[in-house]
Amino acid sequence: MRKYLKYILMGLFALISLVSIPISCTITRANYKLEVERIDNLSKDFILAMDLSSLESLERAGVEYHDFKGHKRNPFYVLKSVGITHIRVRLWNDPFDSNGNSYGGGACDINNLISLSKRAKANKLKLILDFHYSDFWADPANQRLPKTWKGISLAEKAHRLYHYTSSTLAKLKSKGIIPDIVELGNEIDNGLLEETDIINISRLLKEGIRAVNNSNASIRTAVHYASTKDESKTRFFAKELKKNGVDYDIFSLSYYPNWHGSMANLEYVLKKVKEENKCQVMIMEAAYPYTLRDSDYTKNQIESKLPELEYEVSYQGQANFIRDLVDAVNKVGGIGIAYWEGLWIKAPGDDYLAMRDTWEQYGCGIATSKAAEYYGVANVSPQGSACDNQALFDWDGHPLPSLRVFKLLRRGN
Ligand code: CA
Repeated sequence: MRKYLKYILMGLFALISLVSIPISCTITRANYKLEVERIDNLSKDFILAMDLSSLESLERAGVEYHDFKGHKRNPFYVLKSVGITHIRVRLWNDPFDSNGNSYGGGACDINNLISLSKRAKANKLKLILDFHYSDFWADPANQRLPKTWKGISLAEKAHRLYHYTSSTLAKLKSKGIIPDIVELGNEIDNGLLEETDIINISRLLKEGIRAVNNSNASIRTAVHYASTKDESKTRFFAKELKKNGVDYDIFSLSYYPNWHGSMANLEYVLKKVKEENKCQVMIMEAAYPYTLRDSDYTKNQIESKLPELEYEVSYQGQANFIRDLVDAVNKVGGIGIAYWEGLWIKAPGDDYLAMRDTWEQYGCGIATSKAAEYYGVANVSPQGSACDNQALFDWDGHPLPSLRVFKLLRRGN
């Protein structure tokens, strides 16, 4: 017996070590001392929004979220507990191929919007609705018409945009949901519904605003732009819209520091746009990495410490970025910020093939192979997330220490 004792003790030690690894990780995470400098005079109704458009596709795939104590939790509860005030959800007209398969990107259709909005309401969170007016990703490089809108005139586009906006808001209203803010198009720098002339873009935006105002005059309308780094281009666009009679309430910008310039430049642009157009301003999308590691075999947008990154790549760096962004927006009288897809983490699966199957089945990655039909190409290779290292939850759905920054903005520590 004695000669085996050594091996029994070694085995026991190994077992304790195995068990204690996750425990010690949790303790380290729980004890992480995040330092947040208080923001003076942060407006009482400052919007701290979280875009979580992909959330339910991830949950269907089996992703679970936790609270800071490591218990499984409804992520809306966790967000509310740290001071998030709004959710932001993108809406695609028809993000499915001719056989009803998801193009991916969270399968963000009207059902997804309604479901997320109901959960937000149950947790006393408000809604920012982001119309892409497209069947899939709309951004400065893509503003494709919905597939059933092909070949129509500008007048017909305006007509459909009005009715699509109205009917979407009516569907939400029938579920007791009224958005706080409605965004008319996503990053429309280079066009909207395949219209690139600013006069035509203005005409479409006016129809969207009219639809929102006729639905409920209390909803604020937002234009969303992303040439943030180029202050003269941004100021010109904002002014031209007003000149053309686009009476938006909010001019909003994306701010990804790897693309969109320094925080000082951002503050300057926001200040100018606000002054020149007598409008509200906010940041509609922003994110920052806490690690340079990738979790899901899908190349991340930020893979190295680029010179443009003004903060550390760490929990503290990510929190400092958020804190300073809120401070910059608040200083110029802006109304809020939205963090982009802070819950978009890796899909379940231990290797590439397993994850690929999950992206294909649930549409919880950037794109499925079915997006080939949408793009009119032979193949699209399925992909996961290109920003899992900019999320505010870790690979296993535990909140990062940096998520606490929202709660500490007003009091610091
Ligand atoms: Ca990735």
